[in-house]
Amino acid sequence: GAWAKPSARTVDSVCPYCGVGCALTYHIQPDAQGREHIARVDGRDGVANHERLCVKGRFGFDYVANPARLTVPLIRREGVAKDPEQVKLADWRAVFREATWDEALERAAGGLRNIREQHGGRALAGFGSAKGSNEEAYLFQKLVRAGLRTHNVDHCTRLCHASSVAALLEGIGSGAVSNPVMDVLQADVVLLIGANPTVNHPVAASWMKNAMARGTRFILADPRRTELARKAWMTLQFRADTDLALLNAMLHVVFDEDLLDAESVRDRCHPDEVEAVRKHVAGLSPEAMEPVCGVPAADIRAAARAFATSKGSMILWGMGISQHVHGTDNVRALIALCLLTGQIGRPGTGLHPLRGQNNVQGASDAGLIPMMFPDYVRTQADGAMDKAEHYWKLPPGQLSREPGLTVVEIIHAALEGKIRGMYIEGENPAMSDPDVHHARQALAGLEHLVVQDIFLTETAALADVVLPATAWPEKTGTVTNTDRLVQLGRQALKPPGQARADLWIIQEMGRRLGVAPVAEVDMHGGEAGVGAVFEDMRGMMPSIAGISWDRLQREGAVTYPCAEEDQPGQRVVFIDRFPTADGRAKLLPAPLSFADERPDNAYPHVLITGRELEHWHTGAMTRHASVLDALEPQATVSAHPSLLAKLGVAPGEVLRVESRRGAIQLATRADPGMPEDAVFIPFAYAEAAANLLTNAALDPWGKIAEVKYCAVRLSKAEAE
Ligand code: SF4
Repeated sequence: GAWAKPSARTVDSVCPYCGVGCALTYHIQPDAQGREHIARVDGRDGVANHERLCVKGRFGFDYVANPARLTVPLIRREGVAKDPEQVKLADWRAVFREATWDEALERAAGGLRNIREQHGGRALAGFGSAKGSNEEAYLFQKLVRAGLRTHNVDHCTRLCHASSVAALLEGIGSGAVSNPVMDVLQADVVLLIGANPTVNHPVAASWMKNAMARGTRFILADPRRTELARKAWMTLQFRADTDLALLNAMLHVVFDEDLLDAESVRDRCHPDEVEAVRKHVAGLSPEAMEPVCGVPAADIRAAARAFATSKGSMILWGMGISQHVHGTDNVRALIALCLLTGQIGRPGTGLHPLRGQNNVQGASDAGLIPMMFPDYVRTQADGAMDKAEHYWKLPPGQLSREPGLTVVEIIHAALEGKIRGMYIEGENPAMSDPDVHHARQALAGLEHLVVQDIFLTETAALADVVLPATAWPEKTGTVTNTDRLVQLGRQALKPPGQARADLWIIQEMGRRLGVAPVAEVDMHGGEAGVGAVFEDMRGMMPSIAGISWDRLQREGAVTYPCAEEDQPGQRVVFIDRFPTADGRAKLLPAPLSFADERPDNAYPHVLITGRELEHWHTGAMTRHASVLDALEPQATVSAHPSLLAKLGVAPGEVLRVESRRGAIQLATRADPGMPEDAVFIPFAYAEAAANLLTNAALDPWGKIAEVKYCAVRLSKAEAE
C-alpha cells in the first residue's frame, strides 16, 4: 500500500497537537490525480521526542484533506438568523453564500470598523489560537490592540493554565517551566499531580515510563487511578477537589518533621512569608486532612518525606490542578512545596506545568493575553503603553488605556450586550467554553462575528463572515513547546481551494482596520514575510533575543531564554535567583477552599471533564482525521463499575448526565480507576458536548473556569 511506496518528497516540521512538541517529517506523495498529500509521518530526532510519536502525531494528519475543509470565503445570507441551538449545520448553503476574498474581507473588517466607530474599542474583542504559530499570535494581538483598539484579546490558555501562570508570575516572576519534561530522567522523585500524560502528553509519558524503569520514584496524585499508576512508586488517589487538603498536609509534614532546606529558605524565600505558610498549615496535619481528601495520613507523610529529602524532586502538573476556582491556590501550594524543600534550580528538580496545546506557551509569550504585551510586560505597567506605541509606530494614545477582559469575561460581556463584535481566529468557544449554552447565546447575539478557521466549526456556524484558513502542514511558522523550545515548522502542502495563510488574512484585516502591515506575507503559507514578522516580534521579546530567524532556519529548534545568538539557550532556569525584583520567591498560604458547586441531594455526583488519547480538544481536527475517528468514534462517559451497577446501567448502555445547566446522553464505559462518586466525559464531542454541563465559575486570580468539577445527577437513559 501507500505506506511502502518511496516518498516523492520530505518536509520537516513539528506535531500540531500537544505541547510536547515532537519533531517530525512528512512524506509527501502525489495521488492518482497528481494532488499531493501526506502519505506518512515519521518522528524526527527532536529535542523533546528523539524520533518518538504518539498516535495523533503518526496518524492524525488526513484532516488536512478532509472534504469538509473550508475552501471559499462565506458570508451569512441576508435574513438568516443565528440559532444557538443549531451549531451543527445540516446544509451550510442555506445559511451562507460564497464570496470573493475582497468582499469577505471588506465585510469582515467593515463590520468591526463600524462598531469601533460607533461604540469604541471596548465593544470589540478577539480570540486568537494556541494552535497557530507564534507569528500569528503576535500579529493577531497587535491587530486587536492597535486596530480594534482594545486589550480584549485572549485565547484558550485562559481555560487551561491561566491559574498556573498567575501563581507562577506572582511567586517566581515567570510563567514558564523551570525544567524540561526530559528532566524526569534525572530526578529521584517526581510528584505528578492532576495530570494524565499517557493520554494528554503521550511521548512525555513515555519518558516518564523510562524514568520509572530506571528507578525514579513517581508519586501519582489524582482523583482517577490512571495508567501510570501501574508503575508509580506511590499513588495518592485523593477525592476530587481536595487538592488543597492534600498539598497543605504535605506542607505540614515539611515543617512538622523539619524537612526544610535551610539554604533555600534562607537565600530564596522571605522569612515572614515562610512563617505565614508555617502558621497556615499548622492545623492541617495529614491526620486532620485524611478524612477530607481520603488519602491515608501515613501515605501523605511518606510522600512529603520522599519529595523533601531526595537529591532531586520535580513537580509536573496538568489541568486537574489548574481548572478549579482554587487553581491559583493549588499552584501556590506547589510553589511553596518546591521552595521550602529546595527542589528547584538544578537538573531533575523544579516546577513544570504540562502545557496542553502545541503553542499555548508561545501564544502567551507573544502577548495573546489581555493583561500582557509580548514577553509578559504588563499593559498597565508604567510606560508600557507608550513603549508599545513607539515600537509599533502608532500615534500616542492609540492604544486603549483600559485593561482587557479574559475569555469567559468577554462571553459574559457579550451576553450583556457590552461586547458587540468579535474576530475569532482558530478557536471554538461554542464547544470549549464552560456552560457552553451561554457561550453559544452570547456568540449568536453579537452584531458582527468574524470566524477564521479550517472547518465550519460550531463557532463558525454562528458567524457573519467565515474566512477559510490554513492547516498547520500548509504553512511555515514557529511554535514553542512546554519546555520553552522554539521550533520551526515548514510548509508541506498548498492550502486547498481559496484557503489562505492565516498570517496573510490577519494582515489583510489589519490593513482594513488601519494597522500597517509588518511585511508582505505569502498568501499560500510560504516563507515570504514570516521571518519579518518573527523578527518584529523578537524586537519586543528579550527572552528570545538570541533566536534569530536565520538561526531557526539553520538549527530548527532553540530553547529560550536565549540572550545571544552564540548561546545554546537555558534548559534549566532559576539556578540562583528568580526574575523577581529581589531575586527571591514570594510564598503565599493557600487557604483550604472547595469547588463552587458541590454535590447535594438534587445533583449528588461529580462531573470531571478532560481529553482522551485519540481526540484533541473540541475535535475540530481529530474528528476529521479518519484513523483517529475510527479508533474513538463515539462520545462516552466513564464510571466506576460499582457506580454503574448502582445505577442499573451496563457498560455500553446509555446514561443521562444532567447538571443545573443542561443534560446529555452518552454510552457508558466501565473504568475501575474512576472514583465511585464521579464520572468522566471528554469534551471533544459536539453531539454530547460536556461543556453544556460545566460550571463557568472563575478562579479570582487566573480567571479560569472550573471545568474540572461540577455537580450532576445520573440516570439510565429512556429508550428512544
Ligand atoms: Fe504530537 Fe504530542 Fe503525540 Fe508528540 S506526544 S506526537 S506532540 S500529540
